[in-house]
Amino acid sequence: MSSRSYDIAVIGAGVIGAAIAAQLSRYAVRVVWFEAAHDVAEGASKANSAIACTGFDMAPGSLESDLILQTNPQWENICRALDVPLRRIGALSLAFDDGDSDSLRNLLNQAREAGIEAELIAGDALRREARTAAPSAIEALHVPREGIIDPIRLTVGLAKLAVLNGVELRCSTPVTGFRHHPSGAISHVVTPTGATAVGAVVNAAGVNADLITDAAVAEPFTMWPRKGQFLLLDRAVGHLVPKIMCTAPTPHTRGIYAVPTTNRTVLVGPTAVDGDDRGDKTTDGDTLDAVWARAERLLPEGVERRHVTKTFSGLRPASDRTYRIEVSAKVPNLVHAAGIRSTGVSAAPGVASYVADLIGAEVMELPVKSSVRESIPVIPRLAEIDTDVAATAFTARPGAAPDEHPIVVCACEHVTAAEIAAECRGPVPATSLDGVRKRTRATAGRCQGAYCSVGVSFILSAATGDQPGEVRHGEPGSHWETPVR
Ligand SMILES: Cc1cc2nc3c(=O)[nH]c(=O)nc-3n(C[C@H](O)[C@H](O)[C@H](O)COP(=O)(O)OP(=O)(O)OC[C@H]3O[C@@H](n4cnc5c(N)ncnc54)[C@H](O)[C@@H]3O)c2cc1C
Repeated sequence: MSSRSYDIAVIGAGVIGAAIAAQLSRYAVRVVWFEAAHDVAEGASKANSAIACTGFDMAPGSLESDLILQTNPQWENICRALDVPLRRIGALSLAFDDGDSDSLRNLLNQAREAGIEAELIAGDALRREARTAAPSAIEALHVPREGIIDPIRLTVGLAKLAVLNGVELRCSTPVTGFRHHPSGAISHVVTPTGATAVGAVVNAAGVNADLITDAAVAEPFTMWPRKGQFLLLDRAVGHLVPKIMCTAPTPHTRGIYAVPTTNRTVLVGPTAVDGDDRGDKTTDGDTLDAVWARAERLLPEGVERRHVTKTFSGLRPASDRTYRIEVSAKVPNLVHAAGIRSTGVSAAPGVASYVADLIGAEVMELPVKSSVRESIPVIPRLAEIDTDVAATAFTARPGAAPDEHPIVVCACEHVTAAEIAAECRGPVPATSLDGVRKRTRATAGRCQGAYCSVGVSFILSAATGDQPGEVRHGEPGSHWETPVR
């Protein structure tokens, strides 16, 4: 049994758990943070459409809409502090026939009701915004403040801030049960490494939040994975898609998207299909064919299926109630931040403030710390830096260790050895090839690691102490190659 005790335990290190941990790190409370996977951002938070949405396409008045509206104006400050790429490139919801145009008028009214800047455009104005994309569109709803963000860098950045402010992050540590006081309140969080005494618990376990509520003997609810499959287009064609492009929503679907990413690739998708296997992240050819067929009219001529470099899927944490953010009615020191299905990236900072307010009002006092960090150290990144700064930022320091050199290791994504080394030694270090990819994009480019995995492995091995051939892909046991004997 762990002898240390903590005021608050957070369960789950997706974007929601990370934002909550970072928010709680501002208070004079001891916080322990459990994540089942080997790294942060291993669930829905690493495989989504990466849109920082304004909330223009949702009915105002819900908690979801309120928290998105509250978060949206803060993005520039948050992303600057956490070294997260963000671009407000705007979105075009496109009409291809009169039925779609009616749907756009409804969307416009909704956006105006929520106070979000939006306009209907056609003709020259539409061509100016869409350029050569979606050539057969007849009209569009233009939402200029809709943004794209790197959701993985956001989750990692929030996690780094939490850890730098004293939160104790324990990866590879699934919560398997709880112990209770006679009053019914939780006294200990149980994991395979022992029981930890805690004063309160936040349930941010994504699609597993129902298992946590069951284990805590709190109110039952149901969660299931809603799969979204994507195709990823090469950055060579990224500049041809100037905005977030989507088909008009119908009563049955939110439409299909072509989303430029902050690293200049384009995401095409996603689907939304309910399932029951929480570990099933497979893609299938028939579904991807259907996605491509629907998305083609969003793209410019010349962007073709051969430009797809990768396919993948993400699992939304779907639930019988979305945005279940509340103190449990049965276990007085358990707070749920569950069922944050489709907009968690866009709302995470708002969710975190809401959770901290709930804890402060209903669970325990949250005294403010006298001094906290509000930002994390910025790592100079070759792919993101202006050319005149690059000359100084990427000159090797005399006497620098080999892995601190600004030599390019990943040629596709322009990632240097120094960037990789910095992420392997940071406050929330990468411990696997996937961990490096998520933080730096090394191995995520056109070659998908065929050329750079060896170099990345050597740098990782210097940080972890593993032999290069024994460096893990992701979870323990997933060696990228059998060691050469
Ligand atoms: C296809 C798709 C497209 C999307 N597009 C967007 C978008 O464009 N914009 C947007 O804002 N949102 C989008 N979303 C939604 C967004 O990704 C989610 O709302 C958000 O990632 C949910 O975050 P989370 O932290 O609740 O869950 P997760 O990221 O899944 O994190 C939950 C974490 O809990 C951990 N965990 C589970 N059980 C335990 C346990 N017993 N002990 C310890 N840890 C545990 C898991 O390992 C996981 O790391 C999309 C989602 C999908 C799948």
